[in-house]
Amino acid sequence: MSDLDPYALRPDFPILSREIHGKPLVYLDNAATSQKPFAVLNASRDYYESYNSNIHRGVHHLAQCATAGHEKARETIANHLNATRPEEIIFTSGTTDAINIVASSLGRSNRLKAGDEIIISGLEHHSNTVPWQMLCERLGITLRVIPVFDDGTLDLVTYDSMLSERTALVAVSHISNAFGTVNNVIHICSQAEKHGALSLIDGAQSIPHQHIDLKVIGCDFYVFSGHKVYAPTGIGILFGRYDLLCELPPPRGGGEMIREVTFENTTYNDPPFKYEAGTPNIEGAIALATALDYVNNIGIDRISAHEHRLIQKAAERISALDGVTLYGPSDRAGALSFGFSGIHHYDLGTLLDQMGFALRTGHHCCQPLMARFGITGTLRASFAAYNTNEEVEQLGEALEKALRMLR
Ligand SMILES: *Cc1c(COP(=O)(O)O)cnc(C)c1O
Repeated sequence: MSDLDPYALRPDFPILSREIHGKPLVYLDNAATSQKPFAVLNASRDYYESYNSNIHRGVHHLAQCATAGHEKARETIANHLNATRPEEIIFTSGTTDAINIVASSLGRSNRLKAGDEIIISGLEHHSNTVPWQMLCERLGITLRVIPVFDDGTLDLVTYDSMLSERTALVAVSHISNAFGTVNNVIHICSQAEKHGALSLIDGAQSIPHQHIDLKVIGCDFYVFSGHKVYAPTGIGILFGRYDLLCELPPPRGGGEMIREVTFENTTYNDPPFKYEAGTPNIEGAIALATALDYVNNIGIDRISAHEHRLIQKAAERISALDGVTLYGPSDRAGALSFGFSGIHHYDLGTLLDQMGFALRTGHHCCQPLMARFGITGTLRASFAAYNTNEEVEQLGEALEKALRMLR
């Protein structure tokens, strides 16, 4: 496997050549959203320019082209994830939407009852926390949280002891967007299954950084957002095991999700359509499949190895700075979180912005995790295939300069 050359990819991403405050853009906010290559931008544009039409219901040529494109995208995504069949792939508007769909459908099913428990982890994004809290409140279910060790990893011994016949669902992120922690999702899902519990993996941060094989992970649901893997916003995926998708009630009503409607009674369509009420984001689905093709042309393992080298280098460089704390384990994926004693992350982020650097500051939608570490937030550098060693070095220098200004 040859090393990925980020300089060969950078011309694919038009935004990377722009300047910010008169300085070249150094984009290190990929965990919030990734930039889009021409291949993806062109797929969206081509859709609207040459075959825009509503899908599934039309006999005319354009409707058939749009339907074919949309359903081909479903197949591409199913293959990418090693799902058993394309019908297991549901188009959503993103990770948040996908988790809410599962919460809504489970909440209407007879799989949950008062006294049951849902387990999440202390690393979770608010979008894998709040929907479960809302569901628990409504149904009299208890939300339990896998504790986080000081190094930002999960205490899986405690997790094992939390599981019981009361556990209905375990919902955990594959990779933490805040600390870059890679969770042992194979263990988490197999333990859940042993106790008869369902498992949901939030893959928002694993889909851009790792080879995903759902048969290896063994989860019942896997969710992600297109925009974090070089595709547009407004499109995301809910993978669900086919038999579960057949069993659960639909989350919302409307067109496309029905088989037959009378005012007295409505029968529902089969998965995936049962979960896709209304006109979907057709162009987004096609662009997402294009983005995954783009990733596969480069090779996800090469991207993964490249990002790993960058993050190791960034950790080494930044850990040498005065008064720094690095969060998370030494083996991270995607994101590196850090802070400096006596300096507010926001002030540092603002100075970095003046120098052309896009980094995230704050709680990263993980307030309970920040509270666990007694902080209000961190600075986070997060990486993609197009980032370079040079940018990591520049970040080190920019941090030194900004720290001198603030101290
Ligand atoms: C970004 C992210 C989400 C939320 O994704 P949306 O696109 O905002 O719905 C959830 N979980 C993780 C780990 C994330 O990184």
